[in-house]
Amino acid sequence: MDNPTNQFDVVIVGAGPAGLCAGMYAGRGMLKAVVLERGVPGGELLNTELIEDYIGFESILGRDLAEKMAEHAKKFGAEIRQETVEAIEKMADGTFEVRTSKETIYRAPTVIITAGGTPNKLGVPGEQEYAGRGVSYCAVCDGAFFKGETIVVVGGGDAAVEEADYLTRYAEKVYLIHRRDELRASKLLQERLLANPKAEVIWNKVVKEIKGGPQGMTEVMLEDTVTKEHSALPATGCFIFIGFTPNSGLIKSHFDHDPSGYIITDDRMMTSIPGLFAAGDLRVQLTRQITTAVGDATTAAIAVEKYLKEAVEVG
Ligand code: NAP
Repeated sequence: MDNPTNQFDVVIVGAGPAGLCAGMYAGRGMLKAVVLERGVPGGELLNTELIEDYIGFESILGRDLAEKMAEHAKKFGAEIRQETVEAIEKMADGTFEVRTSKETIYRAPTVIITAGGTPNKLGVPGEQEYAGRGVSYCAVCDGAFFKGETIVVVGGGDAAVEEADYLTRYAEKVYLIHRRDELRASKLLQERLLANPKAEVIWNKVVKEIKGGPQGMTEVMLEDTVTKEHSALPATGCFIFIGFTPNSGLIKSHFDHDPSGYIITDDRMMTSIPGLFAAGDLRVQLTRQITTAVGDATTAAIAVEKYLKEAVEVG
């Protein structure tokens, strides 16, 4: 039998900036809302040391902003539960079932998915073997283990360039390895890194293998993307920031998406499944910032309110 405590107006999947902001707006809209999060609320904020591009906060620690957002959402009535969502499905009666790893089923006429993404892997030999023994996907979590050491960062986007700069506070030397001769990252982040004496960019190179021994990784094997020459670079850490894959696979009904799995929405943030809304990093869009995530979430939560009202009027 259904547990009435798991019946909501809206189920919000994920408690990063988008999920928390959607929770806050849903609460203000007097909707019965639950935010389901597998870990601690904050999402990508928890993987970022210092936030300097969230308007109104010139500089704030990622974890402090996460805490403020969670408190704010709770203050307006959003309930945050620690649950790992495994499937979101639209049922024949038009409502949604959200199933979690604890076998709990949440039911609601609307869902906002804000589940972000999972870091992409290089897929080279040694990457899995040395994961946690040199290979990392989170500078804030693991940077301090590399005090005084030489490490590499792979990628050329905002994440790689920002985290390479951050990692120089621990490492003696940080090499940023990029496959082209031009970075994708914003000019401001590029300038900061290029001015950092402890950082150096290695252009036109890809990592072909990560090698090491019983103590952990010791070197990365590189290939020049122009000359195809091979070389070895000694390093005890390899931080990989080559984008991420959206967690849109949780949606078990058919939905429109781009070739990489990013969800396509309309201007109300509604997906091709009526009643299912998406906000934040897993949505098709030009850029993925905290500001865009909370912007999406604001629109989605207000659109949910209107959608429910219209459904009542029609019904
Ligand atoms: P991204 O912008 O997609 O950049 C991924 C980088 O990895 C690109 O430089 C790409 O090279 C490289 N790459 C991809 N696959 C590779 C492979 N197999 N081997 C080697 N290199 C590979 O991803 P991101 O940096 O994670 O950023 C994701 C989104 O979050 C972006 O919209 C970004 O603006 C945003 N973000 C913003 C901030 C900030 O504003 N402070 C911080 C972090 C992230 P190519 O350039 O050659 O394609």
